[in-house]
Amino acid sequence: MTIVGLDDTDSRERGMCTTYVATQIAERLRRECRQDNHPAGEMTSDSSDPISRLVLVRLNPAVEYKTRGNAALAIHIDCDPHRAFSVACETLASLAETADDRTNPGLVVADHDENAIPKDVSDFSRRAIREHIAIDEAATTSDRHGYRTWHAGDGRGRIGALAAIGAWAEYDEWTYEYISYRDSDRWGTGRDVDAESVLAAADWGYPDVWDTIDREESETVCVPHTPGPILHGIRGDDPDAVRAVADRIESEPVVTGQLFVTNQGTDAHLRHGRIGDTRDGRAYRLEGRVASPPETRRGGHVFFDLENESNTAAASPHTTGDGPTRIQCVAFEPTKRFRDRVRALRVGDRLTVCGELACETLKLEKFAVRKLVDTESVTPTCPDCGRSMKSAGHNQGYRCRACATSAPEKETVTITRDLEEGWYEVPPCARRHIAKPLVRGGFDAAVHPEK
Ligand code: ATP
Repeated sequence: MTIVGLDDTDSRERGMCTTYVATQIAERLRRECRQDNHPAGEMTSDSSDPISRLVLVRLNPAVEYKTRGNAALAIHIDCDPHRAFSVACETLASLAETADDRTNPGLVVADHDENAIPKDVSDFSRRAIREHIAIDEAATTSDRHGYRTWHAGDGRGRIGALAAIGAWAEYDEWTYEYISYRDSDRWGTGRDVDAESVLAAADWGYPDVWDTIDREESETVCVPHTPGPILHGIRGDDPDAVRAVADRIESEPVVTGQLFVTNQGTDAHLRHGRIGDTRDGRAYRLEGRVASPPETRRGGHVFFDLENESNTAAASPHTTGDGPTRIQCVAFEPTKRFRDRVRALRVGDRLTVCGELACETLKLEKFAVRKLVDTESVTPTCPDCGRSMKSAGHNQGYRCRACATSAPEKETVTITRDLEEGWYEVPPCARRHIAKPLVRGGFDAAVHPEK
């Protein structure tokens, strides 16, 4: 048995896609292995498939070297590792967009099966999904286990390649994506996909199949806009359902399709953290209390501060001896209607927030309302004329000058707003590949999923 890990083959401008390179390697190895097993050409359609699965692993979304979604691939195959290595090298060298000096392909081939992945390799995967790793560490870890490696450029791709190998042992939660590929003559041209058929197929497959469309934005989220070989990618919890949804979509010809086992939609990137103990470039799940009213700034981005529960009004606004007790959270403009949920927050609401930390600001992917502030103190209104009273002076209550009515203090009124306890999320059009959609379930409170 052999595991082939690969990464970093594509370029933002020139296209290509590591899933496609993996599919090509897998197809060639499958053909060659079957020929070896049936040399006289007596191959039948049930000749057993040497490939157990293709694994698509999303790594730390905060890594600056990524082209788009920080994907790395692993092929689990029953074949000679030497053969796998030479086929993978040839395919990578011919397909990787090495003319772009930001493309630094890497290949790692492990000569054992998925049940024999060493602990340091699986640990490496977890860290590649949650932290930043140096190229040297990928090289020394691969050498320690006698893995064959190949690279071009600075070889950064070996980080993703090794992480893709280790992920299978480190994680239990997996989802599926069925990717359909275009004819190479059409790469770089507009995709001919019938939007109505996508909407109908998405409705048919929901909720086993998710993030196919964004119904409110009328966006076919499964169809990329970049110049690469993918026509559409259908994601979900069930391998048969993602295939079936792909089959229902009417489009230009599909040249080939491939099912991937993935960590997409699993929140594998999130770690439990505490405000004050966070670091940029990592993604967290944090508890806290809203400490400033949400503010919409230029560009439509909505910001608010979250503070530690233990924070007191007497504490310094931003720091204590233990580090900052507040953190800024943001819902960016592309998160669309999610921003209305954020705007509905009030100072004092208790939340769990999830997202990536960059420039000491948490980019919100989802949040749970744990407890809403349900009352507020307001200036009293005059019972006769209904207008707002005015202060009668320090500690002297409030008075309506016109009607001569008075009130001793502020009134407590109930706050009504369009927000309940439970989880809220960004819509499908703004979802990060690795972020878990609420429709998948398993959350610790009620959910308000976006469709
Ligand atoms: P696509 O989604 O189109 O396949 P991409 O977004 O996956 O592209 P890559 O071209 O693969 O981007 O570039 C990401 C690079 O960052 C790879 O070289 C990968 O090895 C490296 N990398 C991934 N995770 C980490 C990490 N945690 N620390 C350091 N480098 C990383």
